[in-house]
Amino acid sequence: MRTTAVSLLFLLVQFQDVFAAPTQVPFDSDLVAKRPPRKLRGRFLHLTDMHPDPYYRVGTSEKSACHRRKPKKAKPRAGEHGIPFGDCDSPFSLTNHTLDFIDKKWSEEVDFVIWTGDSARHDNDRKLPRTTKEIYELNRAMARKMEDVFLSKGVPVIPTIGNNDVWPHNIMLPGPNDITFQYSVIWRSFIPFPSFQVFQRGGYFSVDVIPGSVAAISLNTMYFYTSNKAVGGCEVNDPQDPGNLQFDWLEVQLQTFRSRGMQVWIAGHVPPSARNYYPECHVRYVELSLRYQDTILGHLFGHMNVDHFFFLDAQEVTHNGQARSSDALEEDEQDVKKKHKDLYGSLLKNFNHSSRTRTCLPSESSRTIFLDHPTFQAISVSLWMEEGQEAPMRHVLIV
Ligand SMILES: [Zn+2]
Repeated sequence: MRTTAVSLLFLLVQFQDVFAAPTQVPFDSDLVAKRPPRKLRGRFLHLTDMHPDPYYRVGTSEKSACHRRKPKKAKPRAGEHGIPFGDCDSPFSLTNHTLDFIDKKWSEEVDFVIWTGDSARHDNDRKLPRTTKEIYELNRAMARKMEDVFLSKGVPVIPTIGNNDVWPHNIMLPGPNDITFQYSVIWRSFIPFPSFQVFQRGGYFSVDVIPGSVAAISLNTMYFYTSNKAVGGCEVNDPQDPGNLQFDWLEVQLQTFRSRGMQVWIAGHVPPSARNYYPECHVRYVELSLRYQDTILGHLFGHMNVDHFFFLDAQEVTHNGQARSSDALEEDEQDVKKKHKDLYGSLLKNFNHSSRTRTCLPSESSRTIFLDHPTFQAISVSLWMEEGQEAPMRHVLIV
């Protein structure tokens, strides 16, 4: 996490009363298996982008990523708990104090924890390049802390892979590979056994967090992310593309939870937008989200380093899409959308004609029903904006 105003984001989300009735049976982790069922609290916690930095030194300059040199007089020094709104990552004093505080005040008060990745420092210091070993060690340390604070009390934790949790950052080849293997070990206590094989192939899984009522789906957004040049980005003609395989899996998950009468939170690191996702991946994400809006409670992401909401908009990916905003901050994103508008239209047609996905995508008439639907489901997303990288996004509205 960047040491912005509050570096560690946590959202406490109040469930509707209907979820407060059953007790919570812990999922099949050794750490929680022997504990009695917990009473539900009706809240969960969202943690993201903690970015612990083992090289952080108090008193150093921001220019050196808070690793060395004293700053010029007028410039701020690396503080005990970071530099507010600065470019440095987080000292352990900040990550530890934050999690210790949560341990004391909140860990008994939540039903589960969504943890949306980037648990290693940024690659922002040429003199101290990151290594694979360091990235896994930081993730291991964070995972053990999360086990102590939450899992040991019977609170499930749902981790996701961030673009800085891999080396080199942003790049992840189709699995199974060393990354999916390493995280299957580091997160062994968080991933239910039946999901293990799927995780080792793709880096994603689902888990009942309140059995029979609520599940969480952890997505591997690396396979949708435009900066990951090691994948094709859900190309229509490549059913074996890891992004397409993940969407196929996601649809089965959503269908299964719907048939069980359950609802789900979707979690991932990089949020779905025209800028962040390959066009084909974006189309599939929006389409599935719209079609399963009765089952999806909301979507939780990290990565952007800014805390806000946006809305998934059906019109963005249909031929009806119009650039609608005059807000300067949105212009950039609107340009991208405009550029993709025709492409999205033809992709929807292509996906419709593909035998693999024929049943996945809305027909012309069902799309109209979506657009005409009188109610809207807000997607709750918390985002952190990486300075200078991303424009803040309109929150996604599900029609
Ligand atoms: Zn990130």
